[in-house]
Amino acid sequence: MSALRRHIAARIAATGPMTVADYMATCLMHPEMGYYATRDPFGAQGDFTTAPEISQMFGELIGLCLAQTWLDQGQPAPFLLAEPGPGRGTLMADILRATKGVPGFHAAAHVHLVETSSALRAVQARTLGRDDVTWHDTVGDLPDAPLYLIANEFFDALPIRQFQRDGDGWRERLVALREGALTFALGAPVAPPDLAHRVADTKPGDIVETCAPGCAIAAEIGGRIAAHGGAALIVDYGGWRSLGDTLQAVRQQAPADPLESPGEADLTAHVDFEALAQAAAPAAHAPPIAQGALLARLGIAARAEALARNLDGAARESHLAAFRRLTDPAEMGTLFKVLALHPSAAAPPPGTDP
Ligand code: SAH
Repeated sequence: MSALRRHIAARIAATGPMTVADYMATCLMHPEMGYYATRDPFGAQGDFTTAPEISQMFGELIGLCLAQTWLDQGQPAPFLLAEPGPGRGTLMADILRATKGVPGFHAAAHVHLVETSSALRAVQARTLGRDDVTWHDTVGDLPDAPLYLIANEFFDALPIRQFQRDGDGWRERLVALREGALTFALGAPVAPPDLAHRVADTKPGDIVETCAPGCAIAAEIGGRIAAHGGAALIVDYGGWRSLGDTLQAVRQQAPADPLESPGEADLTAHVDFEALAQAAAPAAHAPPIAQGALLARLGIAARAEALARNLDGAARESHLAAFRRLTDPAEMGTLFKVLALHPSAAAPPPGTDP
């Protein structure tokens, strides 16, 4: 039995069943035994692969989209080029490389990363290889300035709570102990105010999820964009309005039982873009667009072709496979969506307008 599993079992034995959010946060973020504290989960050898790790094209096009937004907003200087949850730093490195040729962009940009894991901060520093990067523990610590922000697969890692409809009310889904094993259980009837409107569109037995930390971060980002200008691109899997149990574990690139190996599997949940968009007001938002559709609008086909010209054999095949993986509806193309936040007086970032 892993040390983290013993720790969680002892806590439940002492203080009772824990919320799914507590369980998720402990598994992912425990400072010594948590998933992100103990490993670098990205890339071919890791547990999962994210868009920037699949192909440089993702970061290049996202970078040019942010740079064009900055140009369209009158090139405010200085500004923050910010990323929460930068993983290995690959996405920011690709953004910086692709935007080198945008006149004035690098001179005005201050790179700010929000990362809780010190192990990953070290990886990010190595990837970026520059000494003008500032790290923060929370988005709230970013300085006040126009904010151009990208978050890729960040919000899905934030702890969710789950509520199951019971009659006209709700019971929280909890992690409990039964005969020494972790198991799901239901708590006492509750009436969370943020779920009052969900009685209308759910039926008894349905599960809905809330992510208070995600909403707080979206509120912080939206408030800054409304006050200082800028834009945010939030890329993740999920939909408009949570419905159903979406807690999932991935271990060594394969789906796993979320309660099976705490701290050794990545735990995520689908992102509720409606909740994030509402929390981000007064910033305006464009309706989420599918990742494949946005990349197509930003010109990924032409970029893929240009890169393919210099490749042959296996390298060419793997490049074309990466292009399909990012854009194909059967792969990441439609499951992943992009929510764009922008000041209500400014246009949405290029490609994100409905
Ligand atoms: N964006 C990256 C990696 C996403 S994984 C990519 O596309 O490859 C999630 C990242 O968010 C990791 O870097 C993790 O350490 C970080 N993270 C998770 N919760 C966080 C929090 N509450 N605050 C800051 N960073 C967090």
